[in-house]
Amino acid sequence: MRLRQSKQLLLLLIVSVVAVLSAVVMVIIVFSNKKTEIITEPAKTVTTEITKSPVHKIIGKTVEGRSIDAYIYGTGKTHLMFIGGIHGGYEWNSVLLAYQFIDYLKANPEIIPENITVAIIPSANPDGIYRVTGTNGRFTTNDVTTASLPDGTGRFNAHGVDLNRNFDCKWKPKSMWESKVVSAGTSAFSEPEAVAIRDFVKEFSPAGAVFWHSKSNAVYASECTDGILPITLKIMDVYSRASGYSAVKSFDAYEISGDAEGWLASINIPAITVELKTHETVEWEKNLAGFTALLRYYSI
Ligand SMILES: [Zn+2]
Repeated sequence: MRLRQSKQLLLLLIVSVVAVLSAVVMVIIVFSNKKTEIITEPAKTVTTEITKSPVHKIIGKTVEGRSIDAYIYGTGKTHLMFIGGIHGGYEWNSVLLAYQFIDYLKANPEIIPENITVAIIPSANPDGIYRVTGTNGRFTTNDVTTASLPDGTGRFNAHGVDLNRNFDCKWKPKSMWESKVVSAGTSAFSEPEAVAIRDFVKEFSPAGAVFWHSKSNAVYASECTDGILPITLKIMDVYSRASGYSAVKSFDAYEISGDAEGWLASINIPAITVELKTHETVEWEKNLAGFTALLRYYSI
C-alpha cells in the first residue's frame, strides 16, 4: 500500500514536472516568436513617394550678393528656359508672373511633356527688385512701392547698368532706353547677373527661351547680325496666337544693342520677348495659354 502510494506520488511529481516544463517551453516559444516579430518589423518595405519638387539651383550672385535662382522641372531632353525680371523693379510684374508659374508647375507637374525640361529664372535682377520692394526673395504686390519712387527705379543693376544691354550682341558701352542713354557696362558680360544667365545657358543648352518684360503688350522675335532664326518666328507665332499678344518681328521703337535675346540668336538659340500690357498686371490666363502652347510645340 505504501509502495503503491509512493509510486502514485512519484508519477504525480513527474507529470507535474513535465507540465511545468511544457509551460516553460510554451512561454519560451511564444516569447521567441514575439521577438522574431519585433526583429522582422523594420524589414517592411518603406515606400518613398517620388519627389515632384523642382530642382533649385543658385546660378549666380548679384552685385550686392543676392542669389539668382533657377527652378528646373521635368527631365526631358528638350530644354526650355523662361526668365523674368531682367529689368528688375521697373518690371516687377514679370517676376510675379514667373513666381506664379513656379507655383503652378509645383501643383501641376504633369503638364510638362515627357521630352521636355523647363527652367524658370524668376528674377534675373534681384538688386533692382530690392529697390522697389525693400525685401529679399519672394514678394507680393503689397511690397511694391513704385508709386512713391521716380519712374524707372530698379530697372538697372547695382552698378547702374541696363542688364538687357550687357550681352554679347552688337555690344556698345552706351545703349538706349526709349530716348534715354543707358550704361551697357564696361564690356559684354561685365555684370554678374548677365554672366549668371550666360553660364546657365551654356550648361542648360535651351532649345528655346522666353523673356518676360513689361509693358509693350506684344511678343517679339529676336536677332543679332544674321537675321531672325526660323524657329524664333515659329515660337513667336505659337505664343502670340495662344496668348493673344500681337506678334512683332522686329523691335524698332528705338535702337538697342547688347540684349539677351539677340545674344541667344547669335548662338542659334531661338528666343522671344513677351511684353505684358502694364507694369502691374500678371495676365496669367494669356501667359499660361502661351506657355502651354509652347510646351505642345516642342513636344511634337
Ligand atoms: Zn524690359
